[in-house]
Amino acid sequence: MDSASFRVEGKRMVDFVADYWDTIRERRPLPDIKPGYIQELVPSKAPASPEDWSAIFDDLESVVLNGATHWHHPHFFAYFPTALSYQSILADILSGGIAGIGFTWKSCPSMTELEMSSLDWLVDLLGLPEHFKNAHDGPGCGIIQSTASDSTMIAIMAARAAQVARIKAEGDVGLGKWTADIGKTIREIFERVKSNKPTLQSQKSIHIVEDDENAEMIVPFYHDPTVFEKFVMYCSDQAHSSVEKGAMLSGIRLRKLKAQRDFLGNFGVSEMTLRNAIRQDRDRGYIPFMFLATIGTTCSCGVDRLDVLGPICEQEGLYLHVDAAYAGTFAFCPEFKYLLNGIEHADSYNFNLHKAGMVNFDCSPMWFKNGTNIAKFFNVDALYLAHEYQSTAADYRHLQVALGRRFRSLKIWFVLRNMGVAKIQDYLRGTEKLAAKFAELIIEDGRFEHFVPQHLGLTCFKLKNSSNSDNERLCNAINEDRRIHLVPSTVQGNYFLRMVVCSQLTNENDVIFAKNVIFEITDRIFDVY
Ligand SMILES: *Cc1c(COP(=O)(O)O)cnc(C)c1O
Repeated sequence: MDSASFRVEGKRMVDFVADYWDTIRERRPLPDIKPGYIQELVPSKAPASPEDWSAIFDDLESVVLNGATHWHHPHFFAYFPTALSYQSILADILSGGIAGIGFTWKSCPSMTELEMSSLDWLVDLLGLPEHFKNAHDGPGCGIIQSTASDSTMIAIMAARAAQVARIKAEGDVGLGKWTADIGKTIREIFERVKSNKPTLQSQKSIHIVEDDENAEMIVPFYHDPTVFEKFVMYCSDQAHSSVEKGAMLSGIRLRKLKAQRDFLGNFGVSEMTLRNAIRQDRDRGYIPFMFLATIGTTCSCGVDRLDVLGPICEQEGLYLHVDAAYAGTFAFCPEFKYLLNGIEHADSYNFNLHKAGMVNFDCSPMWFKNGTNIAKFFNVDALYLAHEYQSTAADYRHLQVALGRRFRSLKIWFVLRNMGVAKIQDYLRGTEKLAAKFAELIIEDGRFEHFVPQHLGLTCFKLKNSSNSDNERLCNAINEDRRIHLVPSTVQGNYFLRMVVCSQLTNENDVIFAKNVIFEITDRIFDVY
């Protein structure tokens, strides 16, 4: 393909995408295919010689769209939304077109600097603390990560390293106040650290030592498993599965604390639960080092209150990371700012603009209260990455796992400039209103009840006086019917159905339609309800 045909085919692809969205109502949200369907459509071996672009283009409907789940269909009510806007698609075209990777300032200055300023815009628009701004004098900073899962894992590794650094520093100057507080476990770690002096003296993130056979070993200073062996982190039993994955891959014990119905009638970790867990684990010789709070849990959109739990983290020396993947975007609206009460206590904060924020996947902004400190934990010096401005300019490679990164900030820049925050607010308010409407409609005929009060775009409901298997049967029948798509969830053993308003095309008639489909299927499959 040369530039002349790229111009032609590029325009054709843009039309194809616009047509897809314009006519999406004619489809059903779930595809009618079975696993392995692609074997009939795609040969088992790659073509021996290049094919015509038009032949590929002709396959898009049968291979790609016919087998796709249509997340932007107005009757798609599953999971949480994933964002879509033409502005972000244009940004992705440009990012792909520039095809640079900005791991350091020098490797693409505009990529680094536009990310820094667009994240500072977001700090103001969301009402986040000033100390998160890249332009702020302090050590805070913002970066775009790929996903909330990545942010969680990075936060866990950062928190773990900060605690290791603290223990090693205390170990260096003596047993200090730690001994009285925590006792035996810490003393044992200090003894080990002291007997390994070369590691201790190094202020580098890695240290090279020679073993008995004179083989060189790279020993991580901040990610030293002999120190974090007894570490334990906390999250709610409602936290996203990515927290468990992040803790597992970081070699960290995770204790899920039982959430209770409280704030908004929804599930969150209480002050007593967190305090008791910390005390109990210290008594048992563990080292609590982190609490991961969720704002807008995936199951029921519950909230761990930062204004209540944040001060405990501060008193107890726990790193506080906040995962607001879905709900965080709602802070664009003044009426939803309550979600972020107490955010000043957070050591790091993350939400997905690619969920409710009209910025296409992937775009997951993350802020650190002390990014300078954290960059130290991810730093490996390589001469070929060094540049003359390193001490003054941000090198984003030190706040992520990968080296390379895409030009994601273009999406934020395009959306905020051309669409404006008012349009995002309209969408957020619209989904909340429609969810409230559905919440009202679903209890209209007396057979259903809310599992928790509707919150933001999510309504959780179940059949009254029913068993889990009744609700499961209903949910399966709804999805087999394929006119609407939603997914179930469980909280502490209670099965219920989740209805999330996702698509920008969903209107009040669609919500009435969803209710009618649910009532009709309930009539059909049950005698008793
Ligand atoms: C969706 C979700 C995630 C995962 O988001 P990714 O960006 O896909 O990793 C994490 N936490 C919560 C609360 C979520 O709702």
